[in-house]
Amino acid sequence: MDQAKIDWDGFRGDIEGIEIEDSPQTVRLKSRDYFWYSPILNEQLRKCWAHLVVCPKSEAEVIRVASACAKWRVPVTPRGGGTGNYGQAVPLVGGIILDMTGLYKVLEVGDGFVRCETGLLISDLDRAVQDTGQELLMWPSTRSQATIGGFISGGSGGIGSVRHGVLRDDGNVRMLRIVTLEETPRIITLKGPEIQKVHHAYGTNGIIVELELALRPAVDWHHAIALFEDYTDAVRFGEALCREDYDIYLISVVDKRFSPFYRTLNDVFPETRHAVFSMVGPKTIDAFKADAVAHRGAVSLMMSDNELEAAGLPPVYECSYNHTTLQALKSDRSWTYLQVAYPQPYDPKIDAVMREEFGDDILRHHEFARERGAYQLFAIPLLKFTTKERLYEVADRYEALGCTVFDAHVYTIAEGGMKVVDEVQMAFKAEADPHGLMNPGKTSQAEAEMVLG
Ligand SMILES: Cc1cc2nc3c(=O)[nH]c(=O)nc-3n(C[C@H](O)[C@H](O)[C@H](O)COP(=O)(O)OP(=O)(O)OC[C@H]3O[C@@H](n4cnc5c(N)ncnc54)[C@H](O)[C@@H]3O)c2cc1C
Repeated sequence: MDQAKIDWDGFRGDIEGIEIEDSPQTVRLKSRDYFWYSPILNEQLRKCWAHLVVCPKSEAEVIRVASACAKWRVPVTPRGGGTGNYGQAVPLVGGIILDMTGLYKVLEVGDGFVRCETGLLISDLDRAVQDTGQELLMWPSTRSQATIGGFISGGSGGIGSVRHGVLRDDGNVRMLRIVTLEETPRIITLKGPEIQKVHHAYGTNGIIVELELALRPAVDWHHAIALFEDYTDAVRFGEALCREDYDIYLISVVDKRFSPFYRTLNDVFPETRHAVFSMVGPKTIDAFKADAVAHRGAVSLMMSDNELEAAGLPPVYECSYNHTTLQALKSDRSWTYLQVAYPQPYDPKIDAVMREEFGDDILRHHEFARERGAYQLFAIPLLKFTTKERLYEVADRYEALGCTVFDAHVYTIAEGGMKVVDEVQMAFKAEADPHGLMNPGKTSQAEAEMVLG
């Protein structure tokens, strides 16, 4: 795809009246996401920039932009908050960044569901549904910067997943409204299992303008930390919390060697103890404390949102998922991370072997979540980065020990988490993006090589 051949004046003429940003500084800033977590992706993506940022404010404006992009063959990379980790919102071949944050309206909150535009910040959406006594089923730890459209297009699950499963699970996302990338764009509404056509497709097969999510009655979640001398005890405590009759929204097990990255928490997460960060409902607080003691641990923090704010402490969800990695990177940019699914039940031998072979170059961090109803154990270990070869040597070692590694150091869907080309999503791409203009190069390595030439 050759940028030089695009008639930018013609394109601008067709979208006249719609806000654009073309200062080089803004365009470069909005061409980035959190790919720099990976030194490998940083090398590949740090010089990839769009030509222009276009900021529609309504579905009608999105349709005009989609039509102009199809007519002038302009590549389009949708963008929400730009918090994705794999360069999902980075344009490989220029074109425009479609900044979706101008579509931020909550359209309807009903009993058990919310319908909204997709550029809305997740924290704003959650606040709106909380006003009705309900809450979102799950959100990423980036909730105050990330949009709900970006979560559906690029995310998988997060805080709440130990209770309600992942985004992919039936009934969590109820409807997606898509604008196609054609000269005369169409609106396609996907419901039920059909949402898989577009969920986690990195904005490669349609612009999601509106969506509907399931809601549950709100719980007054308390921020909890339990401390353990032994890491296996901490994981076993996490396993014990995985019960239908417990109100638990987060179970994140973090190695004590993370403690120096959390200075503000040192009184409640000292360097001598491994921690389980959790969000616990009022009816489960007593059981949580008793279970911690039964696993040779003790609770060091149990606070409501208001109490936490008054104490000047960060929310526990900022000590979970990829926020844990972020805290380490803030102190030392030589860390990176892996994404690993562990066999069930937890076998401490895996971590013992990794410790023996890689020592302090790996710091343990596990997350509990449900998928299709079953509890699963995932890990986001920190890894000291030296070379690409060594990173994959460590990944291979995890796999030899029975784990599955989801590659966080590639920007394509097929070679990353999914591990295969998703034929259903590719068939929908042929329908919704017939000119292959949406986030080109992100579906598979083969497509990337084709568009990069
Ligand atoms: C510190 C940290 C913690 C994180 N924790 C989690 C976590 O707990 N769980 C999790 O799943 N992820 C997590 N992530 C990844 C990311 O924050 C989430 O997936 C987030 O929801 C992405 O939203 P966003 O608005 O920033 O999306 P962006 O990064 O802007 O976009 C993500 C992808 O979606 C596409 N896209 C955006 N909007 C649309 C649209 N309207 N239509 C079509 N395509 C669109 C983009 O092109 C891109 O491919 C984390 C990242 C960081 C840096």
